[in-house]
Amino acid sequence: MNRIVPAHPTAIARAASVVRAGGLVAFPTETVYGLGANALDPEAVRRIFAAKERPDWDPLIVHVSGLEMARRLTTQELPVELTARFWPGPLTLVARKAACVPEEVTARRATVALRMPRHPVAQALLAAAQLPVAAPSANRFGRPSPTRAEHVAADLGDRVDLILDAGPTELGIESTVLDLTQSPPVILRPGGVTREELGGLRVAGGVADEVAAKGLAGPGMSLKHYAPRAAVEVFEDEPALQARAEQLRGHRIGILRPTAGNLYAELRRLDAEGADVILCVLPAGNGIGLAVRDRLQRAAGVHSS
Ligand code: AMP
Ligand code: MG
Repeated sequence: MNRIVPAHPTAIARAASVVRAGGLVAFPTETVYGLGANALDPEAVRRIFAAKERPDWDPLIVHVSGLEMARRLTTQELPVELTARFWPGPLTLVARKAACVPEEVTARRATVALRMPRHPVAQALLAAAQLPVAAPSANRFGRPSPTRAEHVAADLGDRVDLILDAGPTELGIESTVLDLTQSPPVILRPGGVTREELGGLRVAGGVADEVAAKGLAGPGMSLKHYAPRAAVEVFEDEPALQARAEQLRGHRIGILRPTAGNLYAELRRLDAEGADVILCVLPAGNGIGLAVRDRLQRAAGVHSS
């Protein structure tokens, strides 16, 4: 059965009912497609883990319709410098969790990850559901994140009740995760809001830091993540890639020219074309390039440097 429906107002209203009834809905955000369920319903949240085959130690991001909803989910003050500038948008804030947040959502952590998406369909769904919506990326665990409704259907099929289709996502790469429980705050995952945008900001007495430099990473940021079936090899420049391509003569090689927007769709396409090895020159580590580098290095199973 085809569960993909265009994200028209009637479909969004239906999706909100599904969420309120404890079901699973895939929906577009400005980053990637999310697999959403009522964040306050442990049973519904467990369905997300089952559908994705996601290990239970990997916490989910909770999506909120507004600041008021976010404030009910944390005991911590959310810095206005951040929320005013980046919400709604691709910035996830990790803060101490309130008692109402089930431990299934946070993987038994004392913290909760909060985000207010700016995609109009995500916003309409959250407004209609009137509930916080736990939503990781709507892919099978370990697969490239979905940037189109078809990717969700390919990975999850009938494990999801409804897929709201609003075409390819704007950014194509996940949100930046910023840990507010550390001072100064630490970037656990580079993403849609760049380090440069965050870096100049004084937050809770400090300046947002970079994860890669410290070798820190958030939970679920394992190596060999975001990966296609093919082996991925990454290079710092074109001559290094070409030298490797020479060595691999006779193999089915796919060459990836990555941008934030095409990264995941290209990994899926090269997989579908049957590439044995995907070769890729890493983008420079500034701006959104830092997030693209991070995901490619994880797909290749090498530590970020
Ligand atoms: P996904 O939505 O699939 O991109 O996954 C959500 C990611 O957000 C997790 O894999 C973690 O890296 C991060 N995250 C979610 N909750 C927390 C938390 N409480 N503390 C730290 N990181 C978190
Ligand atoms: Mg994910």
